[in-house]
Amino acid sequence: MRFVTRLRAVLAVLVLAASTTAARSADKVPGQSYFGSDRYVEYLAGDLPIVLTSPHGGRLKPEAIPNRTYGSVEMDANTQELARAILDEFFARTGHRAHLVASHLHRGKLDPNREIKEAAQGSALAERTWGEFHASIKAALATAVERHGFAFLVDIHGHAHPIPRIELGYALDAKQLNQSDQAFDASGLIGLTTLRDLAARLGGSPSALLRGPRSLGDLFNQRGVRAVPAPQDPQPGEHPFFAGGYIVRQHAAAPDTPKVDGLQIETYRVGLRDTPENRAKFAQIAVDALMVFVHERYGYDFPAAKK
Ligand SMILES: [Zn+2]
Repeated sequence: MRFVTRLRAVLAVLVLAASTTAARSADKVPGQSYFGSDRYVEYLAGDLPIVLTSPHGGRLKPEAIPNRTYGSVEMDANTQELARAILDEFFARTGHRAHLVASHLHRGKLDPNREIKEAAQGSALAERTWGEFHASIKAALATAVERHGFAFLVDIHGHAHPIPRIELGYALDAKQLNQSDQAFDASGLIGLTTLRDLAARLGGSPSALLRGPRSLGDLFNQRGVRAVPAPQDPQPGEHPFFAGGYIVRQHAAAPDTPKVDGLQIETYRVGLRDTPENRAKFAQIAVDALMVFVHERYGYDFPAAKK
C-alpha cells in the first residue's frame, strides 16, 4: 500500500513537472537544448514558426525500459541527423531557429508516433517519456502560434519503399489521394487533413493546395526531389505510401489544433539521408521549399541572416 501511495505521489510530481515545462517554453532561449527526464527527450527551442519533430531517429536502448514486442521496432536511420541538418540550414538562411523535438530512445523502446498504449507497451518509464515528448511538441507549437499567429509542424521520417520519392503525409491515405481532383474537392476530406486550418483560411480548391502548382510537392519536384502528392505525381497509385501518423494527426489535423498546420515527410535513404553531404544537400532543398510555401500561403516574411 505504501508503495502505491508513493508511486502516486511520484506520478503527481511528474505530471506537474511536465505541465511546468509546457508552460515555460516561451521563456526558453532559441538555439538552446532542454532535456526531459534521463535526457530521453530533447527540445531545442526556436523562434521561427516552424516546428520539426524526430520520433524515430533515437538510438538509446536503456535496460530499464523493456523491448517493445509488437508494432514497428525499426529506427528510421539518420533521420535525427537529417532534422538537425534542416535546423542548421534554417539558421544559415534566416539567422533564426526552427524548433526541434527529438526522441533519443530507440524505436524498439518507445515509438512516440503511436498512441500511448502501442507506443510504450506498459512501461511506466516509456509512458513518462511519451508524455514529455508530446508536451514538448504542444509547448513549441503554442510558442510559435503566440509569436507568429500560426505554426507549421514538420515530422521527419525515413521509408524503405521501392520508389525513391519523398512521401508527403497530410493524414490522407493512398485510397483518398487516388481520387480525381474533382471527387476529392467534393469529398470534404480536406477538413480532416494537416492543412485543414490553412485550407479554411485560404479557401479555393483543396486538391490544388495539396498537389497543384506551388504545392509543397511541386516545390520539391522543381528542386530535383521527386515527391508525392505533386502535380508531377498526384496519386500514390498502388504503391506503398505513408499517409501521416499519430504526431501530425494529433497536433495538426485534430479539431482542437487551431492555427497549426503541417505534414509528415517520409524520406528515402540513398542520395538523401545516407551521408552528411547528402543530408546537407536535401536540407537546402527542404528549407527552400518550406520557406517558399510558408511565405506564399501565410504571407510570412522569413528574416534574412546577416552576411
Ligand atoms: Zn518513421
